[in-house]
Amino acid sequence: MTMPLMRPPRKNPVLRTRQMSLPPGARGRVALGMTAAAAEGRFELQVCQACQATQYPPREACHRCLSPRLKWTAQTGEGRLLSSTTLHHSNDPFFRERLPWRLGLVQLDCGPSLMVHLHGDVGNAPERVRVGARLDRAGQAVLIGFPNEESVNMADDKMLREMTSDPKFRKVLVTDGKTAVGQALVQALVKAGADIVWVGHAEPWKKLPGWDEISKLPQVTPVPLDLTNGKSVDELAGEIGGKVDIVLNNAEVHRSYGIGARRGTDVAKAEMDINYFGALRLAQAFGGALKSRAADGETGATAWVNVLSIYALSNFPPHGTYSASKAAAYSLAQCLRAEMRPSGIRVVNVFPGPIDDEWNQSMPPPKLAPAALASAIVKALKDGVEDVYPGDVAQEWLERWKDNPKVLERELAAGGS
Ligand SMILES: [Zn+2]
Repeated sequence: MTMPLMRPPRKNPVLRTRQMSLPPGARGRVALGMTAAAAEGRFELQVCQACQATQYPPREACHRCLSPRLKWTAQTGEGRLLSSTTLHHSNDPFFRERLPWRLGLVQLDCGPSLMVHLHGDVGNAPERVRVGARLDRAGQAVLIGFPNEESVNMADDKMLREMTSDPKFRKVLVTDGKTAVGQALVQALVKAGADIVWVGHAEPWKKLPGWDEISKLPQVTPVPLDLTNGKSVDELAGEIGGKVDIVLNNAEVHRSYGIGARRGTDVAKAEMDINYFGALRLAQAFGGALKSRAADGETGATAWVNVLSIYALSNFPPHGTYSASKAAAYSLAQCLRAEMRPSGIRVVNVFPGPIDDEWNQSMPPPKLAPAALASAIVKALKDGVEDVYPGDVAQEWLERWKDNPKVLERELAAGGS
C-alpha cells in the first residue's frame, strides 16, 4: 500500500533551487498518436482495420498483415505483469535524480508486450495489472502499470506524482475566485488537499453570495488582483509569485453578442482585455517564477490551468465576440505550453461547454454546473491530463469538430444543432 504523502518541510530559502531535468523527450511522429490520446486521459494503441491485430510500438503498417490501415483505439490496458526490475543506476539525469525506479514488462490481454513504469502498489510477477497512459514532465506519453485494485493513497505514489499535478500540499492561485465557478474551484482544491488557495479578485471588499462561507476556510486567502491592470498583476506576482505551484486562470468577461446586434467595440474590448490580454499579463508576471521552481521536489511548481471555452474551437455566433476572445486565448495558451514545457510545467487547457451561470441563462440545457467543472479540473490535475472537455456539450462539440470542423461551423451558424 502507498504510504500517505507527508506535508513537506518548508524550503530553506538559502538553498539553491535545482534546475529541472526532463525525461528523454524525443519520439517519432507516429508515436505522437499515443501522446495525443494521453493528453486527453486515454490509453490508445493502433488496431489494424484489416486483421484486428493490436500494435505496439506504434508503426506505419500492421506487424501481422502489413496493412497501412491502423486506427488509434482506446484500450482497457488489462494485462499480466511478466517481470519487474528496479533501477539503481541510470545515465539519464532525470532518472538519476529519482532512483530507485521500478519498471515492468507487461503482456496486454489484447496481445502486445510492453515496458511500463510500475506503481508502488504493484507486487511481483506474475500479477494482474492495468496499464494506463500518462504524460511525463516532458509532455510525452509514457505507460504506467497500475495495481488491479485501487487503494486510498494511490495518488501519493512517488513515481505517479512525477507524472501528475496533484494539488495535494500545493499552493494555488485562482483568479476571479469569487464567481460561482471560482468558488467551486476553491472548494474543490481545498477538498483535494491544497495547502494554500489564494483567491484573486478585482474588488476584494465586494460581498458575493456564498463567499462568506468559503472565506472562513483556513486554506483560503483573498488577494487583490485586477487582470486588466498590469501593475496590479505585477504587485501580486512580487508578493506571492515565488510561492505559487499552480496558477488557475478562471477570469473571464462573457457577453452574448454577435457582430450585428451591437454597435461599437467596447464589449468586445472588455472581453479581450480579460480573456486574452489578462491571460497574457498573468503569464508574463507569474510564468518565470513558476518555471524556475519546477524541480522543487514532490510539491514543486507544476501546472498552469486556463479555463477557456469550447467556443474557442469554432465560433458560436450568438456569443460571437466572446468566442473570438477565447480563440485568441487558446492560441496564446498553446504558446504558453510551448514555452513552459522545457521547464516541466504542464499547461492544462479546459474547454467547457455552456456553464450554468448568468451569461448562459438563455441557453437550453444541458449546462455545466460550476461544481462539475471544478471537479473535472481537479481530476485533470490529479491525472496529469493536458486537454479537458468537461460536460456533454463540450464532448459532443469536440467529436463533431474532430470529425469535420467545416461541418461544425455550418451547424453552429444554423443555431447549433
Ligand atoms: Zn493487420
